[in-house]
Amino acid sequence: MGRIAYVNGRFVPHAEAFVHIEDRGYQLADAVYEVWALFGGKLADAEGHFARLERSLAELQIDMPMSRAALTTVLREAVRRNRVQEGLVYLQISRGVAPRDHAFPHPPVRPAVVITVSRVDRVATEARAAKGVGVVTTPENRWGRCDIKTVGLLPNALAKQKARVAGAAEAWFVDELGFVTEGASSNAWIVDRDGVLRTRDTNANILRGVTRLSLLDVIRDAGLKVEERPFTPEEALEAKEAFITGAGTIVLPVVSVDGKPVGGGVVGPVASRLRRLYIERAKERAI
Ligand code: PLP
Repeated sequence: MGRIAYVNGRFVPHAEAFVHIEDRGYQLADAVYEVWALFGGKLADAEGHFARLERSLAELQIDMPMSRAALTTVLREAVRRNRVQEGLVYLQISRGVAPRDHAFPHPPVRPAVVITVSRVDRVATEARAAKGVGVVTTPENRWGRCDIKTVGLLPNALAKQKARVAGAAEAWFVDELGFVTEGASSNAWIVDRDGVLRTRDTNANILRGVTRLSLLDVIRDAGLKVEERPFTPEEALEAKEAFITGAGTIVLPVVSVDGKPVGGGVVGPVASRLRRLYIERAKERAI
């Protein structure tokens, strides 16, 4: 059985899943998205992703296309039809289809909803996490509302491509003061020289990562010291460990920045432990 997508109320074969050319997401990036990790076919960190989705939509003045309960049912049905146990669910909601005009259509049109489900090979991702990955740095050049999870991801895509060309897995944006903001599709962390976990505060222009937020709980429960304070790439190079978080990467150890080793170039104990604790907790709470 092939992959199935959800497009505006219908489940269709993936190869036949199309949106209209005047979808405002396609033409103007006037759309938001969410990504849930799936553990055992269940949505991880469900509440956090729904809350952020509602917030992103509200910031763009787009109505929720259906209730949270109805959306949960549709997401689960998409997962069921794709028979995926370990994977990711992608949801995109655009303002809808309307004749091209920068200002919002008036009266409003129905938001357009797309859902896809993809499989993740957890054996391969665990092997990757055990080895760690490299990141490269790149100047922060995104807009001033990175807290909204919009599909306006061109700078992120260019940064990710820069990382790929350099043989790295992620790019860290660095602001004009020399501090890391976040990754192209992840939040950035270090375990500093004093053994304190550090990640940038969310007053800055970054996405409020749901995995980041859950991991803060895990860290506090484990009795580890954590500070929401920015760090520079130089501090990352001097740190004991570094890692990134996201629904796709979970907790992924970083062993180099711009080709220079972090933590002796090997995966450290804190990131590995946090990955394990996060996964245990996410599995228990997945719905
Ligand atoms: N920062 C950016 C720019 C992202 O795109 C993502 C996820 O895609 C994250 C951080 C991590 O967010 P979450 O943990 O909610 O997946």
